[in-house]
Amino acid sequence: MRAARTVLISGASIAGPALALWLHRYGFVPTVVERAPALRTGGYKVDLRGSAIELCERMGVLAEVRAASTDMAGGSYVDARGRTVGELPAEILGGRAEGDDELMRGDLAGILYEKTRQDVEYLFGDSIASLHDDGEGVDVTFESGTRRRFDLVVGADGMHSHTRRLVFGEESRFREHLGAYVSIFTAPNRLDLDRWETYHARPDKLICVYSTSGEAAGTAKNLFVFATPAELAYDHRDTAAQKRLLADAFAGDDWEIPRLIADAADADDFYFDAIATIHLDRWSQGRVVLLGDAAHCTSPASGQGTGLALTGAYVLAGELAAAGGDHVVAFTAYETLMRPGVELNRRLAHKMAKQMTVPSRWKIALRLFLLRTLPKTPWKNLIARAIREEIQGAARAVPVKEYGGYEVGRASGAVQGV
Ligand SMILES: Cc1cc2nc3c(=O)[nH]c(=O)nc-3n(C[C@H](O)[C@H](O)[C@H](O)COP(=O)(O)OP(=O)(O)OC[C@H]3O[C@@H](n4cnc5c(N)ncnc54)[C@H](O)[C@@H]3O)c2cc1C
Repeated sequence: MRAARTVLISGASIAGPALALWLHRYGFVPTVVERAPALRTGGYKVDLRGSAIELCERMGVLAEVRAASTDMAGGSYVDARGRTVGELPAEILGGRAEGDDELMRGDLAGILYEKTRQDVEYLFGDSIASLHDDGEGVDVTFESGTRRRFDLVVGADGMHSHTRRLVFGEESRFREHLGAYVSIFTAPNRLDLDRWETYHARPDKLICVYSTSGEAAGTAKNLFVFATPAELAYDHRDTAAQKRLLADAFAGDDWEIPRLIADAADADDFYFDAIATIHLDRWSQGRVVLLGDAAHCTSPASGQGTGLALTGAYVLAGELAAAGGDHVVAFTAYETLMRPGVELNRRLAHKMAKQMTVPSRWKIALRLFLLRTLPKTPWKNLIARAIREEIQGAARAVPVKEYGGYEVGRASGAVQGV
């Protein structure tokens, strides 16, 4: 079998550009196709912990990541009367250890894109329309009508992966609803926050408003979570319908909620989605393989999706190089290495999804009481450490192997030591 060299990657967010970076470094020829007309910026803040930080350093982007840090100072919990009940520093809120960081998803995507754009072909405003794997290569027809042939295709196109649908089938077969929905959008900075987040809980609901160091003047992010055991039926492209669903879920709630919700009307970056995970028995079929959320979304509840996307990109490219471009060997090794860590993070997501919202007023009152009294107890450090250790374990759940020493020969396709 001829060693693979050309790789089409669908999706230019985190997993796609990170994979392109490593593949190019090993001498493969990656092309990234992104459905959006330009790189999607902004979004929400994502934690980078453990292996993810180490991989940013290996990719040569750690300085840019540090410069884009949200630089959050901390957060407070307020009760229904708007009184601050407790405050926590950012490291404890994020379960972060020394060296970990946090930045906006769009900023990380921008950093990876800038790092790779000179060496990697990016096709914006296009998408795979169909693909045919004949065993020797993959014929791809794009929405634009262009036809090309690649040795391999990687679906790095997120939880609602189009590549996965084309090759593995409908998403509903693989999606597990974790019982809640999340919405986030940019809004006026109603609470006058500066590198600070404010949390407020209602039965089965959580509201978080935050403003990071990079937030445009006078703006903040309004984030809403609400629990609902059943999946909601709506059109994923119909933003107006999603805004109505959000407004209905929070109708009648007081505190600052009515005006925070009303701001959704003017938001042009409105995000609304289920908190869900994706399970597949296999992440590859023939010459097509899935990566990041497309393969194994562990949901925002795990707080590790970005880290897993970066780690998966590193492992997939490294195994392809180590196997000399033999995709059968590489895809098996990639999955074997990644699976245990993904499953650990999925268990974390299940646990966190249950804890994101609280079902009754008295349980909210209890949680606020604990928050108020815990910092004064002698066990506060023990509890903070237990929480941090669980999150840190998840952030290092996939071993970071050494793949140095491989380069796929640019002319011959053979692997040489470097
Ligand atoms: C509110 C929220 C908070 C989060 N917080 C954290 C956190 O603290 N820490 C953390 O690690 N993770 C967090 N995550 C999860 C994290 O954002 C994802 O796990 C991560 O972005 C996955 O990266 P990805 O590249 O696999 O997919 P995505 O980031 O989803 O990117 C998929 C890309 O594919 C593109 N695409 C889609 N369809 C097509 C198509 N047909 N053709 C071409 N391109 C296509 C999309 O436009 C997009 O650019 C959070 C998620 C949310 C929603």
